[in-house]
Amino acid sequence: MKRILLLHTGGTISMSTDQTTGDVRPSSENPLHHYQHLFGEAVHVKAEDLFQLPSPHITLKEMTAMKERIERAIETGEADGIVLTHGTDTLEETAYFLDLTLHASIPVVLTGAMRPADSIGADGLLNLQAAVWTAMSEEAADKGVLVVMNEEIHAARHVTKTHTTNVATFRTPTFGPIGILAKNHVHFFQKLVEREHFPVDTIRHTVPLLKAYAGMESQLLEAVFQMKPDGLVIEALGAGNLPPAVLPSLKKFLENDLPVVLVSRAFNGIAQDIYDYEGGGRQLKQAGVIFAPGLSGPKARIKLLILLEQTKDPKEMANCFE
Ligand code: ASP
Repeated sequence: MKRILLLHTGGTISMSTDQTTGDVRPSSENPLHHYQHLFGEAVHVKAEDLFQLPSPHITLKEMTAMKERIERAIETGEADGIVLTHGTDTLEETAYFLDLTLHASIPVVLTGAMRPADSIGADGLLNLQAAVWTAMSEEAADKGVLVVMNEEIHAARHVTKTHTTNVATFRTPTFGPIGILAKNHVHFFQKLVEREHFPVDTIRHTVPLLKAYAGMESQLLEAVFQMKPDGLVIEALGAGNLPPAVLPSLKKFLENDLPVVLVSRAFNGIAQDIYDYEGGGRQLKQAGVIFAPGLSGPKARIKLLILLEQTKDPKEMANCFE
């Protein structure tokens, strides 16, 4: 019999609707505790409430606590697979944080829901069942942290929430999901070509994330510089270009040895140093900006926060991103 450790952290999957106002809020008791029978007889699911937080309340501190609990489970051998329930708003960030920091050979699967537990067509139980079945699958091991939603299996590195309310919200732009669930069968049909692991225990740095836009003002970068951050992530335009007005402020970051990591604000494709004009990717890279091809802004921020715990060497850092 498989042993699955089910860690609840909150989110809509465990929320309910106020019958008078229609507002969605955390329930006094987690409704997910009543559904052990959903998973079948081949599995023993041990559930634990880590938090009961909406995911906009999740910070690196809670992500680190989740990592520590999972590591303990792996060390003691108490589970053959781990499932975490999580609010969908920041699920992709927690998933990637765990993907980069855990050294897990057993499956680790995150799931959530778009509809509260008591609504018509609630997706939480289906997602939870699919996540447990995925965590039970031998094939799910050694694939990094997985996100299971709406009968699809996604790798943590690229998955993102794409719709504010629809149940088909989690997508992997450019690359697609790595597997699906069809009835109660788990099918994998692709794998990430490489995995990364950075053994860090705490996150002590500050990395803001900015999004570029036509006519972006330099004052925004100046204000961020005044925050005394340890690095910066910018979602740049197109293939990886910035408006010239921000370049003098950007230079300040680089002159002060603060890593600047660039991704594209475009939904599909990867950031590259293609254009050789003022603010173009080629010149940005020559000036020392680090390109993070294939990562979204929030994911690049998580990775930079982790790398800052390991190195301050810009070359080493750039190698880890490229
Ligand atoms: N706002 C909710 C949260 O992230 C959304 C959800 O869980 O679907 O906690």
